[in-house]
Amino acid sequence: MLPLHATEETLEHYALGLLEGGSLESFEEHLLTCEQCSRRVTEADQRIALMRKALTEVEYSRWLEEKRHPGSKVKVMPKVNGQSAGN
Ligand SMILES: [Zn+2]
Repeated sequence: MLPLHATEETLEHYALGLLEGGSLESFEEHLLTCEQCSRRVTEADQRIALMRKALTEVEYSRWLEEKRHPGSKVKVMPKVNGQSAGN
């Protein structure tokens, strides 16, 4: 079993279903033996559920995209009212 607890990022990615491969495997293994991390996963789940409720679908998918690619900052564009022009 893993002696190390998951980072917040790992927890969030796990709750969002973004964790894969070896990191997913080792984290799931750790979860089996770690009550603390199980609890934190539940908390992360609740936090994400709240985000889902608070944000519109578009905002939520942007937020998700940012989680998926933490390096590249996805700019959230302010709403332009009524303007249909492209650039
Ligand atoms: Zn743990």
